[in-house]
Formats: sequence, C-alpha cells, structure tokens
Amino acid sequence: MRADADRSNQHETGATMDLMEYQAKQLFARHGVPVTLGVVAETPEQAQAAAEQLGGRVVVKAQVKAGGRGKAGGVKLAETPQEARDRAQDILGMSIKGLTVRRVLIAPVADIAAEYYFSFLVDRSNRTYLSIASVAGGVEIEEVARTNPDAVAQVSIDPVTGVDDAKAREIVATAEFPDDLADDAVDMLRKLWTVFIGEDATLVEVNPLVRLGGGSLEALDGKVTLDANASFRHADHADFEDTAAADPLEARAKAKDLNYVKLDGEVGIIGNGAGLVMSTLDVVAYEGQELAGEHGSGVKPANFLDIGGGASAQTMADGLEIVLGDTDVKSVLVNVFGGITACDAVADGIVSAFRLLADRGEPVTKPLVVRLDGHNAEEGRRILEEADLPGVEHVDTMDGAARRAAELAAAR
Ligand code: GDP
Ligand code: MN
Repeated sequence: MRADADRSNQHETGATMDLMEYQAKQLFARHGVPVTLGVVAETPEQAQAAAEQLGGRVVVKAQVKAGGRGKAGGVKLAETPQEARDRAQDILGMSIKGLTVRRVLIAPVADIAAEYYFSFLVDRSNRTYLSIASVAGGVEIEEVARTNPDAVAQVSIDPVTGVDDAKAREIVATAEFPDDLADDAVDMLRKLWTVFIGEDATLVEVNPLVRLGGGSLEALDGKVTLDANASFRHADHADFEDTAAADPLEARAKAKDLNYVKLDGEVGIIGNGAGLVMSTLDVVAYEGQELAGEHGSGVKPANFLDIGGGASAQTMADGLEIVLGDTDVKSVLVNVFGGITACDAVADGIVSAFRLLADRGEPVTKPLVVRLDGHNAEEGRRILEEADLPGVEHVDTMDGAARRAAELAAAR
C-alpha cells in the first residue's frame, strides 16, 4: 500500500516522476476535479503579495516531493499578508525528509468539515488497478490501516472497464462515505480516474479529500506519480520537470556523472549496475522493516546510487562523498558484484575516499558495510583488511550485509 507519507518511489526509480502538490492540483483542475490552485511563491515577499491578492486568511504550504509536511511544520495558517510573509520565511529553506523547501503554495484557508482519503494506484502484485478509500483521512493511511484496518476500503479495478458509474458507486459504498455525499463523491472519483488514465499516472492520491463547510467536496492535497515511460504521449509533462528545485546532492552527483537519486531513508546505498542497486534497495527496506517488527517503522534506503559497470576508484570516492554528504544517512552499504568493475578497484576507491575526506577535515564517522563478490573479490577484501578503516565491516552475503547496515542505522 502506498502512503501519503512516502513519496520516494523506491521501486520505480528512473521510470516515474513525482509531482509536487501544486502541480498535481494543476492536473486535477484540467480534468475538472474541484481544487483551489492558489499561488506559488519562492520568496517571503512573493508570499506576502500572493496573500494580498487572495485577500483574507491563507495557508502557506511547503512544496516538496514528500508527505507529512503538516507534521514537519511545513503547513501553516496565516491571518494577514504580513503573517504569510513570516510563515513563508520560516518554511522556505526548511528541510523536510532531507528535501529543501524552495517554493511554498499560498492558498485561501479552506473551511474543513471532514477529511477523507482517496487514491488510485497500480497494484503490481495483482497486475491490476486498485482504489484505496477511507473516511478516516488527513492522517497517514498506513497508520489507519494499522490501527483500524476496517476503515480502509480497497477495491480492485478491472483495467478494461475502468471506473464507470457502477464502480465509482461500489468504491463510495465500500468506503462508507456519507450518503448525502455519494453523488458528489462518485463524480469526483470518475474525474480522478480520468487524471489517472488520461495522464498515464501510476498513483493519484488525495489526502485529504475534504468536505467543506458548505457541503461540497474538494481535493485539498494531491500527489501524482507519472509514468515517465509514457512521457512521449504528454509533451506538457516536461513542464513539471523541476530542475531549479532539484536536490542539491542530486545536482552534485549529476555534475560528477553519477546516477544518484535521493530517497527518504537512513541507509546510504552504493552498488554497481541498476539491477543490483534496485534489489539492494528492496533487501534493505525489507531488513529495516523486519528489524522494526510489525508495528515500528523501520529504517529505509537513503538513496539510489549506481556507480556503473566500469567504475574507477575515483568514481567510488565521488559516490561515497555524495552519499556521506546526506545528513539523513546513518550507515552505508556498498554492494558490488565485480564484473567489469574489479572489486580491488572498488576497495581502492573506498580507501582513497576515506583519505580524501580525512584530508579535507571531514573524516568518515558513519559505519560502512561492504559486500564484495565476483571479479577480484578476495584482493578487494584484503585491501580493506590491510587499510583497517574505522567503522568498515565486510559481510559476505547481500542479505547479511543489508541486515547489518540496517542494524547499524537503526542503532544510531
Ligand atoms: P501533508 O501533511 O504533506 O499531507 O499536507 P496537507 O496538504 O495534507 O496538509 C496537512 C493538513 O493541514 C491537512 O490534513 C489539513 O488538516 C491541514 N490543512 C491544509 N490546508 C488547509 C486549509 O486550507 N485549511 C485548514 N483548515 N486546514 C488545512
Ligand atoms: Mn496530505
């Protein structure tokens, strides 16, 4: 199940594009979904001007590709334009789940009578689409699923027939939306379905979907993940590409030609080959969850980083520098299967990265778990043993290494 709080798309890196709330709402509006668009501001002055233009009380909302902004202090009400400016000043530059806020959305304050949850997503395991709806909205849906699973209605959708009137009514009835809202809710769901299908999305999520004081429904928050493989069908989606607000670590990685994507966990990941890195992300997420047990929320991968097939010692050093530069990272897992990249070169890279960072006055203080296998693995292990770097451990298997890295991150 996908949650509002998790916008990181760990299993779909590269092939999808997450939208920010204001962008999601722009798409919603194009399909007739009721939303209040508001005004995007990049400075406190712009926020004040926007609030003046909108008149009256406004909400100032951080625009980052992460959920839980409210909890993190990224959603604030302002009574006056001056206050909107002050709140924007607080929120701009703030870090939410490791993402720096560069824009805020200024919107008139909604008069909320009730908050609901709604989403459409691709259900990969069942090769179909799924809708998740709950009258217990506003909070994280995973929390609701855990504490009150009966309050979360999951209805699968036949990809051929999609969401027609009957299917929309089934969803609304299963979720037990209030009777007097049923017709409006059906209308809203069908429009959200046209967003999902028409825009080639893999996720459309509204949390909260609100009932306003006057009785009508509105999408107060929106999350959309687009299938980037379908972008050739949507020239307009290129406008959503967010170069200015790209993560600074991602920008640095790009400058060094590294294939790096920031995620919102704690275990830094470095591997060679996209497939190996992807499965490393999965194993770390699994081990993190296992450690936390059924009720905790476990440690997760902090990034995707593929150092590629013919990675040199320099590439390894660059990669480590980027991953260690992420303040959310508590441990690092280096998982290399030596093929074109020989394991001894990887080991040399780790040793030189430690030296380079120490010379710069930024010695490595985070634990590193290394798994080397394949071409020249023994030579690589010997190099690491001889270098005797502080906090570096070698573990032979991928599962074992992932478990150890998760343990180390969870303990810090
Ligand atoms: P998220 O925390 O990242 O999911 O951000 P949301 O946009 O969902 O906002 C979090 C919460 O702030 C919502 O569930 C609402 O309770 C509240 N909120 C957001 N916008 C408004 C608004 O215009 N009026 C009121 N009264 N509350 C709001
Ligand atoms: Mn939300």
